Amino acid sequence: MKESVAQELQEKIASYQIQQFRKDLLHWYDTEGRVLPWRQKPTPYKVWVSEIMLQQTRVDTVIPYFQRFMSQFPTMEALAEAPEEQVLKAWEGLGYYSRARHLHHAVKEVVAEYGSQVPDDPVKLGELPGIGPYTRGAILSMAYQQPTPAVDGNVLRVFTRLFNYAEDIEKTKTKKEIEWVVAHCIDPVRPGAFNQAIMDLGAMVCTPKNPACRNCPVQQHCLGREAGQAERLPVKIKKIRVRHETYFVPVIRTATHVLLHQRPASGLLAKMWEFPMFLDPDGEAEDSLQLSQWVDKQFAIQLLYLHEVMKLRHQFSHLEWNVHVYQCRWDEEMDVEKQWSDEIKGAYHFIPIDQLAQLPLPVVHQKITEWMKSEFE
Ligand code: SF4
Repeated sequence: MKESVAQELQEKIASYQIQQFRKDLLHWYDTEGRVLPWRQKPTPYKVWVSEIMLQQTRVDTVIPYFQRFMSQFPTMEALAEAPEEQVLKAWEGLGYYSRARHLHHAVKEVVAEYGSQVPDDPVKLGELPGIGPYTRGAILSMAYQQPTPAVDGNVLRVFTRLFNYAEDIEKTKTKKEIEWVVAHCIDPVRPGAFNQAIMDLGAMVCTPKNPACRNCPVQQHCLGREAGQAERLPVKIKKIRVRHETYFVPVIRTATHVLLHQRPASGLLAKMWEFPMFLDPDGEAEDSLQLSQWVDKQFAIQLLYLHEVMKLRHQFSHLEWNVHVYQCRWDEEMDVEKQWSDEIKGAYHFIPIDQLAQLPLPVVHQKITEWMKSEFE
């Protein structure tokens, strides 16, 4: 793993006061850490149930559910024997019911396959339904005192600040790097307390907004605070959701003119000129009949012939156009504009082809223009 960790992090770890950091953190945890029911005499089963309940759910909400659940199903055998409806009923209101189903199935497996002992082997534990790397790390460290990182969003935030690490935490590489850092920092004697201390620090002090750096027990070890960057971390680059639109574009021309549309005065590509664009509602662009019908309805033009000549793709920041360009033949002698509504007349115009170069055209339409010229030269 070390080879794939950024040099910057390796250097920071090499000079970090790890012993003193653990000491300061654990001292604070012992005096200020949260008193939570699953932390009293923790067992693998208690830690497991609490960690599953805490996924996507606030601690305050989980506490009464956890207490009711444990009094209803005090042992793994009791949970394994319960009908699924009863388990779901006990979960009612917590939401994300697949968590309860996975827990129920996994507990049945532990009872049947492992004699009701939650595996302390990371591989076997990680194979149980609903146990991902975070839950596995929490169980191994809190119930079995194995020095295993348990890295969720809170821990990522705290550690990117502690190490002033400005890489995107949405990337798997960054998460793995932070796991590597936590694995170096974790207290080998009290790994469970260490992981819980970091969770408490993230919940109580190093909060997403306005971290309370002045009251932070590890402020002396925080490179993000020292650099004045704490509030800017972690870096989280939102993925842009790209919308896909498919268009039919008929090139309707005479010997001297071509039909163009001017886009509205505001919005995407405002006021630019383009060939008519028909948005394909199902996005498959397989039915050119729809295009003929649209051209007829919109422009009173009955196409005699149409043929797809090219496909173009253009990516905007949030949008991708897939454009299918059609060569068209029609009766050019017809004076179709007479039949147009005022709205169509205002937006569509037969433009002299030799004036196209003076009009602002989006890139896709410039390409269509080039094709059109080469076709008829
Ligand atoms: S000093 Fe501030 S940014 Fe650093 S760990 Fe403490 S609260 Fe978080």
